[in-house]
Order: sequence, then structure tokens, then C-alpha cells
Amino acid sequence: MRACQCGIQSVTRPKTRLELSFTKSSFYSMPCEVAARFLILYGSQRGQAQSIAEEICQQAAEHGFTADINCLSNQHKYNLDSEIQPVVFVVSTTGDGDPPDTAQKFVRKIKNKSLPHNHFSHLHYALLALGDTNYANFCNGGKTIDSRLQQLGAKHFYATGHADDGTGLEVVVDPWIEGLWDALKKTFSSMATSDQQDTDLSDCTQDNFHKNASGQEKYKSDLEVDLHLLKLSETDSQKGKAITSDSIDVETLSTVLVASLKQSVPPLSESALNVPALPASYLEVRLEKVSTEGETVPSDKDGYHEVSISKAVQLTQDDAVKTAISLELDISEQNLAYQPGDAFDILCPNRASEVEELLLRLDLQTQKNCAVQVNLLKNSSKKAAKIPLRIPQNGSLQFILTWCLEIRRAPNKAFVRALADFTQNSSEKRRLLELCSKEGSADYNSFVRDANVCLLDLLRAFPSCLPPLSLLFEHLPKLQPRAYSAASSSLQHPGKVHFVFNVVELPARPEHPARTGLCTGWLAGHVSSILWPLGTVPASERLGTSAQPKVHVRPRPSSTFHLPADLSVPVVMVGPGTGVAPFIGFLQQREKEREANQEATFGETWLFFGCRHKDKDFLFREELERFAHNGTLSHLIVCFSRDEPDAAGTINRPTYVQHNLSLHAKNVASILIKDKGSLYVCGDAKNMTKDVNDTLLEIIGNELQIDKLDAMKTVAGLREEKRYLQDIWS
Ligand code: NAP
Repeated sequence: MRACQCGIQSVTRPKTRLELSFTKSSFYSMPCEVAARFLILYGSQRGQAQSIAEEICQQAAEHGFTADINCLSNQHKYNLDSEIQPVVFVVSTTGDGDPPDTAQKFVRKIKNKSLPHNHFSHLHYALLALGDTNYANFCNGGKTIDSRLQQLGAKHFYATGHADDGTGLEVVVDPWIEGLWDALKKTFSSMATSDQQDTDLSDCTQDNFHKNASGQEKYKSDLEVDLHLLKLSETDSQKGKAITSDSIDVETLSTVLVASLKQSVPPLSESALNVPALPASYLEVRLEKVSTEGETVPSDKDGYHEVSISKAVQLTQDDAVKTAISLELDISEQNLAYQPGDAFDILCPNRASEVEELLLRLDLQTQKNCAVQVNLLKNSSKKAAKIPLRIPQNGSLQFILTWCLEIRRAPNKAFVRALADFTQNSSEKRRLLELCSKEGSADYNSFVRDANVCLLDLLRAFPSCLPPLSLLFEHLPKLQPRAYSAASSSLQHPGKVHFVFNVVELPARPEHPARTGLCTGWLAGHVSSILWPLGTVPASERLGTSAQPKVHVRPRPSSTFHLPADLSVPVVMVGPGTGVAPFIGFLQQREKEREANQEATFGETWLFFGCRHKDKDFLFREELERFAHNGTLSHLIVCFSRDEPDAAGTINRPTYVQHNLSLHAKNVASILIKDKGSLYVCGDAKNMTKDVNDTLLEIIGNELQIDKLDAMKTVAGLREEKRYLQDIWS
């Protein structure tokens, strides 16, 4: 490929209907067939930014552009220092507002203080940041890159998008991508105009060939480009594929009163639809009749260790709203080190019954033990297609569906779009197209995303949909491990780590039957034979190792969520429900440190815990009372959200941890501001951590007599100093 100086690259592939054509000026004799090229760079942690970047790349061709796509980590494959074509960044956020691991190096590079302020003045870019408003520092990964590029003189050619996984990425992503094409057209148009002027002044040769100062070969042409007039209307109408409801049986419609996963109501059912472009297929799957039976667990290569579950205890009464279980893992043989505050990734399989049903539904039941071979389709139009690493070559079909692919996650719109193409029945097909269309966004959100509908639910609801295996392999994401905080200290439990979790219950809905959370439900079943009910586990209980169920784990250290190194620093911990897990580890460690350093001065320790009922789900009650009794905990402040008022009939008793924080506002503020102590919050990302944050702002504002803005600045300062730390989970 050779680049025209106008920022448009010449391409050698044959001209297609969708490609832009440029007429040569009288200055040159040879026509030049070109497509406007831009660069897409993504920084992805779990694959979402990557798949959105790939989607943009895919759509680019349909809009008459060509796009190169690279992961930000592949720094040898792109060079922003000399990039004169527009660049589109898609960047996710991880941890406490950090850029994804794959973008870390890039961020370090652009943060280099020696870079001049105009370092990227040649760069025109757009940035789509992904985040989750349930977490602090929303979209901070993308914002970090965006603001640094601005500082270095780069210019936006399109406003930055901030997509929120908390409410559905597609709410922002879809319109952002839709608007990107016009922005690109305008950018290329203005670049072409300025290049035209440059070209008039330049010393070009007759055959368009030009060697620039750095010796690189470049095509120079003064192209008469009006990108608005290029065949885009044709392209758009192709993409838009207005699908009307002509084919729908009017009688059926008239009997439908409410929308559901399977059926829509007017106006959607009568609307023309804007559906996403059909994702290009790119995989070819072969099933070899070699038996791979017996393969039951994933290999060890991603740093996982198979360990025994040496104890399992139910922490709640049988009639508690949620069932909490504590597991003890024996990690002595693997010598796994951890600190309280760290977490562990646990590998869990998809449910055998769901895999079985999926195989049956796809008519692949008899081939479940065949070895799977995956190749790239020869003529795929997918740019930079690669065989997904999540699919091991020669693994059995059953193994791949069990351990490698996330079959429970709600299919995204691109997947729904692709499924529609393999649906025979026209009304089923129409409904699938509605669900992935712009017009059907609200239905998608209610009946697919919010309803936690998975592929199998869709296949049940749309019986004529029969996708090939290759489509599943292209669209199903990697089955991710689930992380759990260590609820122990190795000082107190050498060679062991404890976890605690609530068994997630997903009640039956019209869209799917009742089920338990993938990992928590699996773990609960996995340990059912060794589970001790609350209060029954004998202290000396030792299970024979043969009876101990096994699990694959990998340490996931935290860089910040640890007790202060200085023992005299006071700490406030807030952890309702299973959010108390890391604090049990903290307190076990403190208890041991106090035993070992009797002369040392220890800072105060406050724990704010909350549960529903004192007698049903007060997790770790005995242990917490022991900590309070022996001074490990200076203050144990507990609230019960659903207990009746006590005999004294206390009115306005605190129900939630934040209410108790308010009651102890003076102490909390004094610890944080005067004593330079630390605040740790662990638990539910959706409500609790936000409410606690609001309460903290109130406390700081009231106690310091400052307004809300200043309180926000003070709290932001605490975060910066890593004295306000959150370990939040959704
Ligand atoms: P939970 O049992 O649902 O709730 C615990 C208590 O918090 C209940 O009394 C509940 O009251 C109350 N609560 C509800 N909304 C609240 C709010 N806005 N502010 C303050 N309190 C509120 O808690 P859980 O299921 O254990 O959830 C804890 C969270 O921590 C989960 O998101 C979990 O994933 C996460 N987590 C887990 C681990 C782990 O390792 N397993 C570690 C860290 C965090 P009502 O229900 O009566 O309203």
C-alpha cells in the first residue's frame, strides 16, 4: 500500500461498489482508485473495546473507508508520531479508573514529560471511552489518553463518546459510531482541501511518484474530491436496508397487546428498521471424529492452579434472604502467596445441562466429543481476522462450550443481527432484526440485556433459528474467571485462603427459567457434599483429601487495597453483606500483628457492617465479636436493615452502613482529615458505594464547614492519596 499525500491511501484490490473513486485532475494522466483510510487503535481489558473497534473497522468498508486496526499494545505496528490520517481510539477502563493493561505502555509513553506541547499537533482523532458509572472514575482510561493527547496538541475531529456499561454500552456506542462516518467524511474533505493547496505548491513529477524528505515513497495527486458526493448515499442505503413489516401477518399483530422477547407491538412492529451491518463471518469450523473424551478441565497455562476445597461452611440461616457460603482452599502445595485485600480468580464451567441443551438444539449432540479445528475463512471481508485465542485447537466441542465460551452472557446486537440471518421463519427473523435495530433499542434493553437473556434463551424463543457453530465461535466471548476477595490472612491460616460468596438467584421470568449465578451456583453445587450448616462445623474437622472437591484458582493481587504499612494509621472499613470479606482478612492480620508487636501503637480500627437480620445473615458474627472483644477492632458498628424495631422501639434506627457513618460523622472526619487515616469501602457497586460516597461528601462538608464542591475536592484528594479506597463489585 502506498499513501497519497492527501491522506488517502491507494489500494491494490479491485474496485467495489462501496469504494470511493476519485477523478484525477488534468495535472495527471493516470486515474487513481482510492479509499479514504484511517487508523483504529483499541485498548481492551476484557475484549469489549476490541470488539467495538472491530465493529467500526467492519462498518468502515460499507461507508467507503478503509481502516487499519491495531491493539494499542502493538506499538511496532503503528506510529502516531507520523500519523497524518485520522485516528479512532476505543479505550476501556479497568481497576480504579485505570487504562486497560494493553494500553499501559502507550499511556506511559505519551505521559513522558519531555514531549513538547505540540508533539501531536499533526494528529486528528476521535475517542470512544468505555466505563461503568457504578464505579469511581467513570471512563477514566479513555479520559486519561484523551486529555494527554489534547495537552500534546492533537485535535478532535469528532466529540469524545463516554459509554456506560452500567446502563448499556450500546446506548452511547451505537449513535457514536453512526455519527463517526460523517465526521470522518468532513475530516477527509478538509484534509483533501488543504492537501489540494499543498499540492498546487509542490514539485510533483508527471507520474505522480514522489519521494519525500524522509525517503519514503508517496503518491501525490491533486484529487478532485468531494467526499459528500462520493457513492455514500448508495452505501448508506445498502447498510440501512429498510426492512418493512409488509411480511408480517396483520391478524397476529392485532391479537398482541404487550411486547415480549418474542413479539413486538406498534409502533415498533410497524416501523421500518435500521439494523446494524451484518458482521462478516470469518471462521470455518471442522469437527474431526477423534474422540477427545475425558478432557474435563482447562489446562494450567494461564497461571491457574488446581487446589482442594478443604472446608465449606454456610454462613447464613436457611431462611435468610440470601445464602452465603465460606470456602477454605488449601493452597499449601502450590505455595500461593497473597495479602489481605487481594482477590483470587476462580474458573467455573458452564452448566452441563445448558451445554447439553445447546448441543441438542444445534443438532450437534452426537458430535460433542469430536475435536474442533478452526480455520480462517479464505474470502472473509473481516479486517485483520484472527482465530480467537479463546478457542483451543483440537479441544472437544463439549469442552469448548463448557470451559472456553461465555454462553450465559446476553448476546450483543451484532450477534442478534447475525442470528437473524440464520432464522427461517419470517416473523421470528423480523423480531430478531427489531431487537438489534436502532428502533428496537428499548426492547433489546428490556427483553435481552436487563432480562439476562442468553443464547440458549434466544434459541428457545426463536425455534427456527439454527446458527452454524462458526457463528457461535465468532460471537461468544471468552468465559471469564470470577474474582473473589480473600477473606483470610495467611498469618492466621497458613497455607489456606478463604472466600465468601452469596449464591446468586435469578428468578424465573417469561424470557428464561429460574437459575443460579454461573459461578456461585456452580460452587454451591460443587461443595454441597462437604457443606456444614451454620454453627455446626467442628474446629478439628479434617476432610480426607480424596473427598475434597477441586477448583482452579489464580491470584489476583491488588495494588492498593491493603492495610497501611504504618500500624499507627487509623482505618475505617465499610463492608455490608459479603463486602466484609476483605476486612476479615485485614482484621485477622491485625490480630496477629498485635500479638507479635505488643509494644507497638496501633491506630483505631472501625468496621461498619450491615446485614438484613441479626439472627439470619450476620456474617462472621463470632469472629467480629472476638475482634471487638480483644481490641483488634476498636469499634464494631452494625445495622440490620430488616429487623423489627427492638423492644425499646427505637425510632429512626440506622438501617444502612451510611446511616451509621453519619451518626459517627465527627470520628470519621477526624480520622480522615486530622489523623490522615484511610477509608476502605467494599461491596455492591450499584447502590451502596454511591450512597456511602454521598454520605462521605456530606460528612466532610458539614464537619469542615465547606460547600459541596470543596467537599468533592477534598474527597478526590483522599482518593488521589490512596486513602479512600474502594473494592467494588457488580
Ligand atoms: P446484601 O446481602 O445484598 O446486602 C447487605 C446489606 O446491605 C443488607 O442489609 C442490605 O439491605 C443492605 N443494602 C442494600 N442496599 C444498600 C445501600 N444502598 N446502601 C447500604 N446498604 C444497602 O449484600 P451482598 O449480596 O453480600 O452484596 C455485597 C456486594 O459485595 C456484592 O455486590 C458482592 O459481589 C460484593 N463483594 C463480594 C465479595 C466477595 O468476595 N464475594 C467481595 C467484595 C464485594 P436490604 O437488602 O434490606 O435493602
